[in-house]
Order: sequence, then structure tokens, then C-alpha cells
Amino acid sequence: MNLRGHFTPGPEFGETLRAGARRAHETGEVDAASLEALRRSGLLGMMVHEDHGGWGYPPATANTVIEAVAADNPSIAIMLYLHCAVVVRIEQYGTEAQKKHWLPRVARGGELVASAWSEPGSTADKRSLSTTAQRDTAGGWEIKGGKTFSTSATVADFFIVLVQLPAGTETAHATGPTYGGSDQALFLVEAAAPGVQVPPGALDMAGMRGSGTGMVQFQDVTVAESNLLCSGSATTEAIQLPHRLGLTLGAVSVGLAQAAHETALGHARDRGLFGEPRFQRQLASTEIAVRSARAAVRDLTTGPADDRVLRAYCVKVFASETGETVCGTVRGLLGSAGYLQAHEINRISHDAEAVTHMGPPTHLCLDLIAGRWDPAPGPDR
Ligand SMILES: Cc1cc2nc3c(=O)[nH]c(=O)nc-3n(C[C@H](O)[C@H](O)[C@H](O)COP(=O)(O)OP(=O)(O)OC[C@H]3O[C@@H](n4cnc5c(N)ncnc54)[C@H](O)[C@@H]3O)c2cc1C
Repeated sequence: MNLRGHFTPGPEFGETLRAGARRAHETGEVDAASLEALRRSGLLGMMVHEDHGGWGYPPATANTVIEAVAADNPSIAIMLYLHCAVVVRIEQYGTEAQKKHWLPRVARGGELVASAWSEPGSTADKRSLSTTAQRDTAGGWEIKGGKTFSTSATVADFFIVLVQLPAGTETAHATGPTYGGSDQALFLVEAAAPGVQVPPGALDMAGMRGSGTGMVQFQDVTVAESNLLCSGSATTEAIQLPHRLGLTLGAVSVGLAQAAHETALGHARDRGLFGEPRFQRQLASTEIAVRSARAAVRDLTTGPADDRVLRAYCVKVFASETGETVCGTVRGLLGSAGYLQAHEINRISHDAEAVTHMGPPTHLCLDLIAGRWDPAPGPDR
């Protein structure tokens, strides 16, 4: 890969990620060598503006990079995607002082940020949070609560935390399905701040086992006003920002589907199956699926901006379903060889399924897509 002359990793970058993906699937923890390679690659700053030491990659380029990383190491790819989704929020909603504080650390220091939004009792729409932020007497804020399924939690340098604000704060008054609410806020919180506790060890997930996805507790964590990134209606806008820009987890699914397709090609080569018509047709169908999902991801950033959020939900569903379908087809093609637990296709399949569950999961995308239909009579579009 050589993008705008910046990112020219040698073959060892991909090899480190591929070996790390296999190790992490065994251990269930972030692979140290892969994380170190990610931090040193500069990719954590790829979407940071040049003024703050980054590469200023647009979402289309970032999607391409994330797809390529996912083909080698899907856990590292979701860490990178979620990190970039925070970077663009800081770029868009941060004050100049906040940008100067956080962005060079990411771009030059290789620091990693994690999103702490989901809670054990919250649903995918993030409307029923029990983590709160209250004003303290010194003019700052006190954050209390517990989060779960936070990707990179075990290795993050700082967090973006979604909290519920006290009653009386601006509210969403939404009638249909929403994603977050305007009675909420986003804070940037140091992982090393007093009261921030990450229990050791990642969640024992079926897939994405090298992503350091874990829990984080905020026990009376005191932060300054300058840690508040946004509140009120800006929160719901900030939640949607990656979708509005066309930065998509769908890119991870495309990389995963590509990896599964290549696994089938390797199997065909090893077993001399090229020329066998049934096998060939199945390979053609997985190739079509991968190319279609990639085209959908590309279309997100090249097509019109006005309905991009809606299209982003469509692409998330389509690409993640494609990832799972391609893995299923390839498992069928491999026969009993693919049924061995240690076969790579089983790791790739679990990783592909994880993307479907990640926010916004398919059921929420469907609600958000369906909820926008206007019941008033009018032309169908
Ligand atoms: C690998 C991975 C990484 C993740 N990384 C992060 C991260 O970095 N940060 C973060 O904050 N979160 C993260 N998450 C959490 C993810 O965002 C949540 O899992 C998701 O938002 C919650 O969706 P859910 O489907 O589990 O929950 P729910 O919305 O509770 O849905 C669970 C099930 O219940 C059904 N359901 C929901 N509501 C209803 C209803 N009213 N009636 C009937 N059925 C209903 C749904 O259809 C679904 O099948 C991650 C998850 C995974 C798997």
C-alpha cells in the first residue's frame, strides 16, 4: 500500500499483523507486536489534520487503509476504525485548545483512544445510560458509571465517554428511533486519571479477540470543563459524524471478506481445484460479493452528501452481511478441512460476525432506516 506517499509499510508490517492476529486469537489479548507496529506506523494520526501533525487523510482513503489492515488483522482494524471515529469528532467539535492538546499526541505520539459508550444495561441506541456527569463545585464535572464492550479499553491512552446529563438539560424530544440523545454529552478522559479503572483482561469474546475490548469503570472521576467535547444536540450530531463523513466499519467487513476469499483461493491452489466447475463458480460468487461490498463502501464517499447517513446505515448492514455470507460460503468450500477449530476461516468467521454486532448493529440500522419514512401521502422515492 502506498497512499499519498505517506504510508509505505514494508512487507513486514502486514506479516506482523497477520502473525499477531493468529496469536491474539489464541490468547484473547491485544497482540503487543501488532499494537506496537500500529503505534509506530503513523496510522493513528492518518485522519488528523496536517496542522496538528497528522496526514489529513479523507474518509475515502481511511476506509481503504482500514480495509487493508482488516484483511491482515481485523482486531487491529476495529481499533483503528474506532480511534479514527474519535479523531474526526475532535477535529469537528473540539475547541482549538482541545485539538492542540489531544491531536498531536495521537499523530506524533502514537496514542490510542477508545470509545466507552455501551453499558451492561443499555441498548444499542444508547438512550438509557446510567453513567452520569454532574457539575462539581470547582466548575468541572464528576463522572460516575461503568461501561462495557469498549474496544481497545485494555490498552487505550484516553477515552471518549458518553454520559447522561442531569435532568433539565436539553432533551431530544424524539418521536422515532434515535441514536444517542441531546440530554447526553461526550467527554475526553485520560485512562490514567484517578478513578478510571480498567479491569485486567479483555472480554472473552468469540471473535475480535485481539481488540482489547473490555470494561471500564469511572469512579467519581473529576475532569475539567476543557474535557467536555460536546453536549446537547451536538452529541447526537457527533455520534453520527463518521456516518455523515462516510467513514465506515463496512470497510472492516470488506477486508474480512477479502481474507476469506483468499483463503478459498489458497485452498483451491493447494488442492488443485481450479478447473473444477462447482468450485470455480463458488469462487466467482465470493469475488462478486467482495467487489460489490467494496463498491458500496466507495460509493459512500463519492456519492451525494445529503443522504449519506442513511446510506452509511445501508452500507454497514450490507457489508457486514456480505462478510458473514462470504465466510459461510468459504467454510462450505473448504469442507471438513474448514471444520477444524484451528483453521483460519473459523477465526475470520467469528471476526466477521462481530462487525454485525458492533454499533450501530443491524437491528438498530433497520430501525433507523425504517423510522425515517414519512407516513404522510407523497411520491415514493
Ligand atoms: C466486537 C465488539 C466491539 C464493540 N466495541 C464497542 C466500543 O468500542 N464502544 C462501545 O461503546 N460499544 C462497543 N460495542 C458494543 C456495541 O456497540 C453494542 O453491542 C451494541 O451497540 C449493543 O447492541 P446489542 O445488539 O448488543 O444490544 P440490544 O440493543 O440490547 O439488542 C440485543 C438484542 O435484543 C433485541 N432487541 C433490542 N431492543 C429490543 C426491543 N425493544 N424489542 C425486542 N427486541 C429487542 C435486538 O434485536 C437484539 O437482537 C462493541 C461490540 C462488539 C461485539
